[in-house]
Amino acid sequence: MEYPQNLKEAAQVAADAVERMASLGITANPQNFTVWYAYLSGHDDSFVRHVDSMLAKKEPFDETQCADLYAAVLRLSIGEKEGTREAAIDAVGGDLERAIAATTEILQQAGSDTKKYGETLEGAGGALQSAGTAEQMQSVVANLVAQTQRMVEQNRTANESLQQSNNEIAELKIRMADIRSEALTDPLTGLANRRAFSERLSDSMSAATKDKAPLCLLMLDIDHFKSFNDTYGHQLGDEVIRLVAGCMSAKTKEHDTAARYGGEEFSVILPAASLEEAKEVAEKIRLTVAGQKIVRKASRQTLGSVTLSIGVSLLRPQDSDEDLIERADAALYAAKHAGRNCVQLETDLVDDAGARNVA
Ligand code: GH3
Ligand code: MG
Ligand code: MG
Repeated sequence: MEYPQNLKEAAQVAADAVERMASLGITANPQNFTVWYAYLSGHDDSFVRHVDSMLAKKEPFDETQCADLYAAVLRLSIGEKEGTREAAIDAVGGDLERAIAATTEILQQAGSDTKKYGETLEGAGGALQSAGTAEQMQSVVANLVAQTQRMVEQNRTANESLQQSNNEIAELKIRMADIRSEALTDPLTGLANRRAFSERLSDSMSAATKDKAPLCLLMLDIDHFKSFNDTYGHQLGDEVIRLVAGCMSAKTKEHDTAARYGGEEFSVILPAASLEEAKEVAEKIRLTVAGQKIVRKASRQTLGSVTLSIGVSLLRPQDSDEDLIERADAALYAAKHAGRNCVQLETDLVDDAGARNVA
């Protein structure tokens, strides 16, 4: 279902949203307004049912509930974007089919014109041989000149049409590349998204195996982020996610892949890096994030800083993608247990028997 298009209707929904927030004791901030506007406009049936059931149970709309509802509305709009993207891909596919059909037709037409012209030339050869008089010869030549001119004209038109088809196909290629890059990018941070991460990890693992080169993976997670969100709000939380992403981009190289793995979790693929080199990158990211002061823009109030816990794994010969991720995750878990704001390598892990794991 669409949001109301009509000005009066939209104003009514907006006024109802403000009134409803007041009656439920909900702070009228932009996120909450988005939630109640979406609910009252009946934008999405399942979302309306979800809020209805919360209202029926008289559940409190505290900050966490409001943040979760806002996240649900955002997910809806991402879902709609996916739908739009699929429609855009379909449209490009249709345009491409038409451009290819047009090109094929031009080439077939040009082929049959050239064949006809070849037959005309052959016929003219025979006619010239059997022409007895100068007039007869003149008429054969005149016919040949006329046919040649027609052929030149047809070729020119075919060339122009081919050029146009080429331009259309080149434009479609650019549109396709834009759609693909959007589908692989996390909209909040501009980092590679989970899908891009999975693709790059597979490619990087194959390349590392082929080149007999090392490959490391970092898994990063913001410490106590739930409490940050609860204290300062989801919007500032989003700013922090962007800040962490910026630090990751700044401390990694072009051939590395910094990705948003999901929520407040990130990952970095480090091709050709040993565990020690990967630890160095992880420490640089950790220290950079911890050194950033978080400031509330409106009030210029300094809110302190956030920290990261990071786990590092090194590719082993028989590893699947999941194995490599799992070991980095286990190291991340160990970093949380070691007190957070630190980096743990998979080789730092101690198994049940008390022995160190060695790659
Ligand atoms: P830990 O140190 O153990 O990682 O604690 P934590 O609070 O960070 O971990 P937990 O998994 O309990 O909470 C993660 C929080 O991250 C909960 C959720 O509200 C928040 N979060 C996830 N995705 C987003 C997002 O896109 N934006 C914002 N603002 N918060 C998010
Ligand atoms: Mg987490
Ligand atoms: Mg966390």
